[in-house]
Amino acid sequence: MAKGGHSRPGALVALLEQRLCEYHHSKYCVAFATGFWSLVACLRLKALNAPEVIIPSFTYRRLADVVFWAGKTPRFVDVDPGTLAISPKAVERAISSKTGAILAVHPIVNCCDVGALQGIAHDHRVPIVFDAVESVHETCEGRRVGSFEGAEVFSLHASKLINGLEGGYVCSDDREFVARLRRFKTHDATSASLQEPGSWIPSEMPDLHAAFALAGLDEIDLNVSHNQRIYRAYQARLKTVPGIRLRAFDEAEQTSFKNIVAELTDRSSCSRDSLVQQLNHNGMLARAHYSPPLHTRSYEFPVSCPDALPVTESVAARFINLPCGFRMKEGDVSSVVDVIEKSLSMDSGG
Ligand SMILES: *Cc1c(COP(=O)(O)O)cnc(C)c1O
Repeated sequence: MAKGGHSRPGALVALLEQRLCEYHHSKYCVAFATGFWSLVACLRLKALNAPEVIIPSFTYRRLADVVFWAGKTPRFVDVDPGTLAISPKAVERAISSKTGAILAVHPIVNCCDVGALQGIAHDHRVPIVFDAVESVHETCEGRRVGSFEGAEVFSLHASKLINGLEGGYVCSDDREFVARLRRFKTHDATSASLQEPGSWIPSEMPDLHAAFALAGLDEIDLNVSHNQRIYRAYQARLKTVPGIRLRAFDEAEQTSFKNIVAELTDRSSCSRDSLVQQLNHNGMLARAHYSPPLHTRSYEFPVSCPDALPVTESVAARFINLPCGFRMKEGDVSSVVDVIEKSLSMDSGG
């Protein structure tokens, strides 16, 4: 521990940054007040002097707002039907002289195609930022998420795998970029260097949140094994239920088993939304998965969506997030699947 001990202001944040570097096999880590502002900061510092940022439509509900706060226009593209993550082909088609950056998001189950996306970014000389919030514990082709080149963003919100109440951070291997990130969040507004309006964000993480996150980091294996038991229970029970298919974690990689996502298949005549309703009605916390897609929403700022998004349109109403997490016990899975089974058979029976 550095001089001054844990009570020195910023000491716990610094300790957390160091521990997160070890955890992610990352060179550098910079903590922010939230994941949202971490994303905004990365785009503000990385995007070229061009108006658009390419993002998936089937994703985290506030992603277009991130782009707006970074001073750019979101350009929505389609997802890949296999990964449900931003499609490298769609990104490549959308890149133009208007592209300032690509914001790729890891899906809730497994990872996006990091290699292909980095290749495209490199070939077109466009910066890429990864929203890696949902892949915090994962490896991608054997490599730890957080250890790739460039900028990978994570959240410590209470709903995420590492709970710091609220918080976010950026992992990077780029020393110069990291120095700019630090200036960006702590900058003294009265100093002359960064005077342009909106050029910095007061976004320091409080030490209290860092303390929570450090405790969360210590408990991660406990949480992952709990999540895995829940996942195994769903796997066993859902196998025999027609009309619904569990989205499988790629167990050749390290994963957190955190969120349970399932797809209603063509054999199911019960709609996803009525299944969510049935579960909620029974006091079970299920939610529509990334719905509605971002390009179908209305915004008070300009957005761009010149292409059709057929995959997004076809998956938007099919996926569901099933109840899971630390409040849920392994034994509770059975009653959830009972409700699913009943709902699916009721509707198809007419
Ligand atoms: C939660 C989340 C964020 C935002 O993180 P906050 O810390 O809540 O601001 C960004 N991206 C994804 C994919 C998320 O799930």
